[in-house]
Amino acid sequence: ELVINQIAAGEVVQRPANAVKELIENSLDAQATQITISARAGGLKLLQVQDNGKGIARADMNIVCERHTTSKLRELEDLQTIASFGFRGEALASVSHVAHVSLTSRTADAPCAYTCEYADGKPKAPTRLCAGNAGTTVTVEDLFFNQPTRTTALKSATDELNKIADVVTRYAVHNPAVSFTLRRFGAGNDLRTPGSGTVPAAITALFGSTVAKDMVALETKSVKLFFELRGWLARPLFLGPVANGGRSNKKSMFMLFINERSVECRQLKQAIDLLFSTQDVVCPLVYLDLKIDPRRVDVNCHPTKNHVQFLDQTAVFERVQEVIEDALTGCVQ
Ligand code: ADP
Ligand code: MG
Repeated sequence: ELVINQIAAGEVVQRPANAVKELIENSLDAQATQITISARAGGLKLLQVQDNGKGIARADMNIVCERHTTSKLRELEDLQTIASFGFRGEALASVSHVAHVSLTSRTADAPCAYTCEYADGKPKAPTRLCAGNAGTTVTVEDLFFNQPTRTTALKSATDELNKIADVVTRYAVHNPAVSFTLRRFGAGNDLRTPGSGTVPAAITALFGSTVAKDMVALETKSVKLFFELRGWLARPLFLGPVANGGRSNKKSMFMLFINERSVECRQLKQAIDLLFSTQDVVCPLVYLDLKIDPRRVDVNCHPTKNHVQFLDQTAVFERVQEVIEDALTGCVQ
């Protein structure tokens, strides 16, 4: 059973960035407005996510790392969404099978914080009292300590840290009302967003004012189809067919959220790059926030792959291209 759990956990958490994503989503689910992520040695030595969210009640501290423990399955409607995004109540359990996990948490009405350490989904000792502010801190040490093949499969601490920074960046852009901090301990400056509520403010903090200059908002204006699109283009520049040689080879950073979850869709990225290329436009950063009926997205792959397919792919791509084209018209310099 233990081996099976470890294998399953290795599927859910393939690299430190997967764990970071899950922990950030938990903090957001807990309505945190400040989230601090710390990573040492690419997250393999230490990964910590601290939030000021609603916390975990003392009575739940014992069970939160057990498989299928979730406080988030309430309505039948949820099941549809959950089905489309794969799994529930697996993140903490999985991490606790491949790392040393400890939790410190305090709810608003608790007189103090509680802390507990876990191994293989179970508490190592009873929950203890401790000092702490309202919110939750999840500490993950020695990730993959019991999975030597996993650690050798990972490229390098630098690559893992870059992946973590990428995840934090995406969630920070998508949640501009939340202040995110990423601490890298000498392996790079801290990343920090103000939590002031606007996407351009978050992008300015993360990418600098040059990229964030002249941002263009995207929005579906016409009759609602089966999806709603919002987003931003960061400083699109018109090169012109001559300067561009008719073809742009500058790749843009592409951030896609579907129903609040960061996902990958290579074909959609290609469709957008093609549009930029035919318009002789370069755009360093594209951020899309798509709300779509979950029955129309298919995450056929494993949740960690984050790879998504649309049922009406052509229609979705065309609409997205249209929205971007509309936004570009008249504002490209
Ligand atoms: P899920 O998020 O799918 O419910 P997880 O394994 O990620 O499963 O988390 C298990 C449970 O632990 C959550 O349902 C929630 O009740 C609690 N939890 C985890 N992280 C936090 C957090 N940062 N703040 C408050 N509660 C949390
Ligand atoms: Mg979760």
